[in-house]
Amino acid sequence: MAAGGRPTGEALPRGRSAEIPYEAIPYEAIPYEAGLHEVADGVFAYLQPDGGWGWSNAGLLATDDGSVLVDTLFDQVLTRKMLDAMAPVIGTRPIGTVVNTHANGDHCYGNGLLPDAEIVTTEAAAREMGAVPPSALVALLAADMGEVTNDYVQRAFGGFTFEGIEVPEPTRTFTGTLDLEVGGRRVSLQQVGPAHTAGDLLVHLPDTGVVFAGDILFINGTPIVWDGPIANWVAACDRILALTSNAATDAPADASADASTGTGAANAGTGAGAVVIVPGHGPLTDAAGVRAVRGYLTWLEEACRSTHAAGLTAAEAVRELVTSETFQPYREWGEWERLAVNVRAAYREIDGGDESIPNLFEAMAALAASS
Ligand SMILES: [Zn+2]
Repeated sequence: MAAGGRPTGEALPRGRSAEIPYEAIPYEAIPYEAGLHEVADGVFAYLQPDGGWGWSNAGLLATDDGSVLVDTLFDQVLTRKMLDAMAPVIGTRPIGTVVNTHANGDHCYGNGLLPDAEIVTTEAAAREMGAVPPSALVALLAADMGEVTNDYVQRAFGGFTFEGIEVPEPTRTFTGTLDLEVGGRRVSLQQVGPAHTAGDLLVHLPDTGVVFAGDILFINGTPIVWDGPIANWVAACDRILALTSNAATDAPADASADASTGTGAANAGTGAGAVVIVPGHGPLTDAAGVRAVRGYLTWLEEACRSTHAAGLTAAEAVRELVTSETFQPYREWGEWERLAVNVRAAYREIDGGDESIPNLFEAMAALAASS
C-alpha cells in the first residue's frame, strides 16, 4: 500500500515516553517519493515531489472509527489519485473528517470529492476559501500579463485542471484551538494564522508526536508570505518546535538557523524515532527543518528593516537582497524568486501599501528571468 515508509521485517523503535504510546517511524527512512507513506501507527503522509507551485503534501489518520484527512490537493484529478492510493486504508475506515490547514487551493480544491465528510478549518481560512475560488486560477491563467509573466504562470499552474471545480463551504469552523477525538485518538487543531495566509492551522497528533504543518513549512522550497505578519509565522515555527521538543531527542529551539539544515545530513544527530513533521511542501522533516524556515523569515524581516531604513523601495530592496551574501544559501531553495513577494510583504508591514496578485506574479517572473 505504501510507496515507502515502514520497512518490512525490521523492528520498530519503541515509543519514547508515556505520552507517545504509538510507535513512530524514523522519518529519515522514508524516501521523498510520490505517494502514501506510513509515518506512525495509523498515520500517513501523502507526498508530491518536487514540492514546487501546487505540489503539496497531505496527511491521513486512520482509526477503526473512521479516518481524518488533512488537506486535499490542487485539483480533483490529483485528489482522486490520492484517494485511490489511500483506498486500502480508507476502504474500511472511511474519511469522516477533512481538515484544511489553510485556504490555498493546493490544500482544499479537492474537497468536493468528499461530499459526506465534515470539513473543518479556521473561520479566517473558510472566509478566504470563498474569496479565491478555482475560477480565480482559471482567470489568472487566461490573463495577458506579458510574455514573461504568462510563461511563469503557465509553468506554475498550467498543469492543473481548475475548470468546473466547486469547493464546498467548510461545515465546521473555529478560532484558537479545537480538539477532535476520532477512534480514541486526539487530533489537536491549533490556529497560528494569519501568517502564510489569513487562517493557517497546525494539526498535532499528541499520541504519536506527528505534526502536519501545512504551509507554515516549506522544506527545500521558499516560503511565500501571502498575508503575514511575519512575526506570527515565526511564532508558528516556535509553536511547532515546542510541540515536538518533548518527544524529540533534538537540540533546543534556539539554535541559530542555517539554510542548509533543512534535511539530510543535518538530521543525522536526531536519532531513531525523531518526531515526524509533515510540511505543506517538500520532504518530511524535524526540528532542523523548522529552524531553517524560521531562519529565512527572521533574515527577511531584518534585511527589509535595514533596506527600508536606508531609503530603498521594495523593488530596489529585492534587487539589492538577491545578490547579498546572506541570501545566497536561500537561493539554493526552490522558487527563490518568491523573495519578490516576501520583500513586498515585509514592506507592507513597515509602511503599508498592497499589490494585486497579477503584480506579484509579474514581480516573481521578472526576478526569475533576470537573475
Ligand atoms: Zn501549498
